[in-house]
Amino acid sequence: MQTGYEIVIVGGGTAGISVAARLKKKIPHGKIAIIDPAHKHYYQPLWTLVGGGIYPKEASVKDQLSLIPSGVKYIQEVVTEIDPDRQLVLTNEDSQISYDYLIVCPGLSINWDGVKGLKEAIGKDGVVTIYFYDFVDKTWEAIRNFKGGNAVFTFPNTPIKCGGAPQKIMYLAEEHFRRAGIRSKCSVKFYTAKPDLFDVAKYRQTLESIVRERGIYVYFERHLIEIKAGTKEAVFEHLITKETETVPYDLLHVTPPMGPVAFLKNSAIVDQAGWVDVDPHTLQHKKYETIFALGDAANLPTSKTGAAIRKQVPVVVHNLLALKQGRELTAKYNGYTSCPIVTGRGKLIMAEFDYAKQPQETFPFDQSKERYSMFLVKKHVLPRLYWYGMLKGRA
Ligand SMILES: Cc1cc2nc3c(=O)[nH]c(=O)nc-3n(C[C@H](O)[C@H](O)[C@H](O)COP(=O)(O)OP(=O)(O)OC[C@H]3O[C@@H](n4cnc5c(N)ncnc54)[C@H](O)[C@@H]3O)c2cc1C
Repeated sequence: MQTGYEIVIVGGGTAGISVAARLKKKIPHGKIAIIDPAHKHYYQPLWTLVGGGIYPKEASVKDQLSLIPSGVKYIQEVVTEIDPDRQLVLTNEDSQISYDYLIVCPGLSINWDGVKGLKEAIGKDGVVTIYFYDFVDKTWEAIRNFKGGNAVFTFPNTPIKCGGAPQKIMYLAEEHFRRAGIRSKCSVKFYTAKPDLFDVAKYRQTLESIVRERGIYVYFERHLIEIKAGTKEAVFEHLITKETETVPYDLLHVTPPMGPVAFLKNSAIVDQAGWVDVDPHTLQHKKYETIFALGDAANLPTSKTGAAIRKQVPVVVHNLLALKQGRELTAKYNGYTSCPIVTGRGKLIMAEFDYAKQPQETFPFDQSKERYSMFLVKKHVLPRLYWYGMLKGRA
């Protein structure tokens, strides 16, 4: 079936719904469609708190249809190809959907096959993750039932969404072990592919003192390559020496490898790594001027977060409308992103920074300090800002 829209949005996640809502406000009669097979919509930042036993997982989900802005067509199909030369989007239902302007935001995908044994082990016998709705409550179950031994937390050798989350869940777990009176029986270990704890020096310094004070062992430039569930062992490879190390675990929190969604891999609109190739400031495609991209799928050299999307949405909307009206694209995104680093039940470092890794702080105090007020922002304010602000085109 062939249909056509003025603006087609591929992906109705954080970016897709937010951008549709804002566009609809600006051009109420615009013919806009979102293509996405999803029936449910997840507020993923809550998964850290679910994994830490602070929220039930159901608090992070709503029906997708209830969030589609009124007047926007929701096409529940899987995009299989984008043909930028013919300005067509193709789907698994053999639909051919033409567009005048295209916004690409299908997020990223988790590569469950990227670690040997992960697919089989996940969700069972202490192997958990907060990176997938189905397993997020298992994470809290595993932390709550932990009786001591090796608690191992990982960070993979790929770009991921929310680079702080692998540490946040570790801090929540470590605090729980202390509260439960079993800390002396636990060894908490963080194996990260990164060369340091955080990209921005100001926040890194606080995190370095936290791991020191709390007796957490950190191993850099190592990534998980295999889980031997039978013997409860995790195998890590050193990124430079390529040496492997086998680590026994009693609890293993895995941050799985991630990458571009499958249909984009051989597309004409992506860079060599498979991310949509856009100008980092205007968010317009580098070759196809009627295409824009934002969110986790775009090749923006900043941390992939919903907070980043909040600043990208007005830029895409402004520039797309400018293009439509033959004006210059004047809105510029500066790489702003934010990572509310939960360091305990009631403690949080509110990291905010830009492309240059320079802090871009909102509040009139030093945000590199752990604060209860910032924890309350994460727990109560940000979810409301998401559901009733961002997704409604208001924030
Ligand atoms: C554990 C965790 C903690 C996080 N913590 C924070 C935090 O504290 N702060 C923060 O700002 N961010 C956080 N994030 C990151 C944030 O949730 C993501 O960066 C954000 O949701 C990405 O939005 P997106 O629209 O790019 O992708 P998504 O919201 O993932 O949406 C992508 C959409 O595209 C659809 N799609 C995929 N493939 C296709 C296809 N072929 N055809 C059609 N549709 C398709 C999907 O169904 C989905 O609906 C966290 C994420 C996780 C997992």
